[in-house]
Amino acid sequence: MDFTFTDRQLELKDRAASLARVIMAHEQECEDNNGLPAETHAKLRQAILDHELHAINMPTEWGGAGLSILEQAIVQEELGKLTGALWDVVWRPANALRACTPSQRERYLEPEIRGERRDAVAVTEAEAGSDPQALRTTAVRDGDGYVLNGEKWFVTVGDAADFLIVLATVDGAPTTFLVDTDLPGVEIIRVPRYTHTFVYEHPEFRFTDVRLPEDARLGDVGQGYDLIRDWFVEERLMIAARTVGAAARATELAADWANSRQQFGEPISHYQLIQSMLADNVVDIVTNRALVYQLAWESDQGADRKTLHAKAAVAKLSASEAAGRAVDRAVQIFGGRGYMRDNPVERLYRELRVDRIWEGTSEIQRLIIGNEIVKRGVAGVLAHPGSAA
Ligand SMILES: Cc1cc2nc3c(=O)[nH]c(=O)nc-3n(C[C@H](O)[C@H](O)[C@H](O)COP(=O)(O)OP(=O)(O)OC[C@H]3O[C@@H](n4cnc5c(N)ncnc54)[C@H](O)[C@@H]3O)c2cc1C
Repeated sequence: MDFTFTDRQLELKDRAASLARVIMAHEQECEDNNGLPAETHAKLRQAILDHELHAINMPTEWGGAGLSILEQAIVQEELGKLTGALWDVVWRPANALRACTPSQRERYLEPEIRGERRDAVAVTEAEAGSDPQALRTTAVRDGDGYVLNGEKWFVTVGDAADFLIVLATVDGAPTTFLVDTDLPGVEIIRVPRYTHTFVYEHPEFRFTDVRLPEDARLGDVGQGYDLIRDWFVEERLMIAARTVGAAARATELAADWANSRQQFGEPISHYQLIQSMLADNVVDIVTNRALVYQLAWESDQGADRKTLHAKAAVAKLSASEAAGRAVDRAVQIFGGRGYMRDNPVERLYRELRVDRIWEGTSEIQRLIIGNEIVKRGVAGVLAHPGSAA
């Protein structure tokens, strides 16, 4: 077993940290304005291209950076340190778009890889949250196309997206569609405010008799859940990586503060109750970082799809819960100053909360793990790759 970073991984980590520093300069601007102005987006777009960290999950032959899952996790860990969800300005097309036909790739994926278009994934509905089978959005065949009707909630980046990847049913079969947001019948009906500050919005969409051509269908009829599940597996590993980075930043800030803040005549870092919180944070971070790296590496080795689904749930559940605990302790170490919005730790405290909810709640991650154990036994999820189970 060799855990040493390769030269390439080290260079990548440095490059991602360098990009994160450029973006970090705009955190307060994002917090104050609930987003960034177009000029700042344009400046950051150029910085992302200069750092060659756009579309890191897409193959080089299509114009992406072609990074492995482990390499992506290393990048996401650095970007996860950003507040305002500014990691999301570094565009990473949804991996479901790998199912594009050559002509769809030319119209949707390749422009997105270049940073000229943007997708958003629209799965959740008012009655279909944890249970996507309760889906009510329908695409009814009509001549040589489809007519789409329904509503989607919580569509992250929906305000900036040129097109949506919409999960709907065709004669009852879950199927994904590429839906341009400027088509007649597509409208944003509400843009709710959330606990966190997020560089983009999460609007609600309504589709009323939206006419879609046959080639708007992404993948086959009935393939919708498979495409979305593959997206979840990759995203859950990336959430785990980002939350590790976020917890590390909060802990570094809290440790610096503990060393400089004096109360009762001494730096508060001299008090063992403060040291205990810092120690627990370190445990939460290093255990989850090791887990994320290992599972990302396993994914690159072509691990069994079902086992990986459960293992990605382990990573997302463990890392997001641990980061929630760590950032809570960091706020505590800062005291009142940890509750002020100009403190990155306060922003991370609000922003990490959703990581226990989206892409499947913590309860749903537990159900995925439990389901794997019941159906296929505990050996697969417990096994270390290459070892006997
Ligand atoms: C900020 C934000 C951004 C989002 N972005 C997107 C997006 O881009 N695209 C998208 O499609 N969706 C998005 N979502 C939706 C998100 O994935 C859902 O909120 C999530 O899956 C939970 O669904 P729900 O909110 O309907 O909760 P519900 O499913 O109603 O769950 C409510 C509670 O019941 C629990 N629960 C449900 N079923 C069970 C069970 N069987 N056993 C035990 N407990 C259970 C849940 O864990 C939860 O605690 C986003 C959500 C948020 C908050």
